[in-house]
Amino acid sequence: MPLTGLEIYKHLPKTNCKDCGFPTCLAFAMKMAAGQIALEKCPHVSPEGRAALESASRPPIQLVEIGSGENQIKIGNETQLFRHEEKFHRPTAVAIRLDDTLDDATFAQRAGDIGQLVFERVGTRVRVNMVAVDNQSQDAGRLAWAVQTAAERSGLPCMVISAKAAHLDRAAEVLSGQRPLLYVSDPSEALNAAAVAKARQCPLAIRADGLEALAELTPKIQAAGVEQIVLAPGTRGLKATLDALTRIRRLALKGFRRLGYPALAFAVDGSPYLQMIQACTYVAKYAAIVILDTLDRALILPVLATRQDIYTDPQKPVAVEPKLYEVGEPGPNSPVLVTTNFSLTYYSVEGEVEASRVPAYILSVDTEGTSVLTAWASDKFNPETIAKALHNFRVEERVKHRRLVIPGLVAVLSAGIEDESGWTVQVGPKEASGIPNFLKTQWQNPLT
Ligand code: SF4
Repeated sequence: MPLTGLEIYKHLPKTNCKDCGFPTCLAFAMKMAAGQIALEKCPHVSPEGRAALESASRPPIQLVEIGSGENQIKIGNETQLFRHEEKFHRPTAVAIRLDDTLDDATFAQRAGDIGQLVFERVGTRVRVNMVAVDNQSQDAGRLAWAVQTAAERSGLPCMVISAKAAHLDRAAEVLSGQRPLLYVSDPSEALNAAAVAKARQCPLAIRADGLEALAELTPKIQAAGVEQIVLAPGTRGLKATLDALTRIRRLALKGFRRLGYPALAFAVDGSPYLQMIQACTYVAKYAAIVILDTLDRALILPVLATRQDIYTDPQKPVAVEPKLYEVGEPGPNSPVLVTTNFSLTYYSVEGEVEASRVPAYILSVDTEGTSVLTAWASDKFNPETIAKALHNFRVEERVKHRRLVIPGLVAVLSAGIEDESGWTVQVGPKEASGIPNFLKTQWQNPLT
């Protein structure tokens, strides 16, 4: 059982020094009892106190490391149910499943394609993280070939799915030193698989039918010497899986150690489009790993975008540096478009300017990472801030004309900007998608 706040308090220095960010040791102890802060945040706890608090300081959800090197994945170690309390820390790993009964050429081609599922979104590189090789052939030799091919062709960590512990052992031997996640799909083989995971030093995913069965199994796996466990609740369909993922997270954060592990979810039911919807839902609610069957880039990107959105810090808007950006190779006659420094807004504008193939400047105004309408409503995107940005980033030294394109949503600012800056305003489109057409047909340099 986890310790209560008062039990933890007994082992703290009781000096109320505030170095942990809390006003009193008791306040710190209460937070720690709720699993919302780690003991390391108190720099003054004695070695005896630390030893006594070891069990309470263990994260409520075990950290699990999969793979090695630069593509290593870390999951678990979350402390919150709601991201507005504190950001979620370890983004869901997205895996694509490959069946080892595929013919050699198709399997190798798809493994290579999975490694190429990389996208650029709002200035950040996002990618699929793992290949899940499914031992549908039930042949250990075939599985060994498949995992080796998957790892080599994709360059990504592997998850190995098999009902048989001996097959997992063979695959782990082939991937020695690469720390694959071993997933034993038959609960009756779980203890044998635990022996394999311990010997091969791999994390182990276990499946059982329902949370009670999982909670019965995890202490046995742990007693067999495996700490890094991933839970597969054995559910099918969106409703049952969402329910299981939510209950696992809630119980783990309440201190129910038997379910204090990251959980995975298969999003493989129905059409590829439905798989995408399932995967996005599981990313939003608590899956540490989601596994899909589709390699369709148009369906993978929404899953990665959802992950990116969920795992940003809601208390810190994602912002780009406020400055004058160049798209293409703009010159003294090129258009100047102004927008805010909210990443999503900036990159939407940049993408559309790029698509127009009209070289241009984009002036990103510091609005503390808020979008155009939000910044306008909070008076951060106004004639003064825009005129100040024009001046600070010396835009008049970069172009000969004095014509500024503003977002159509804030056309109301036109007169104020002209008064404040001395520039002429041309009102642009309301949506970024209208920019290419605008730049090609409506942008007018008054000097030409
Ligand atoms: Fe107490 Fe440690 Fe926090 Fe200081 S840093 S107030 S000693 S818990």
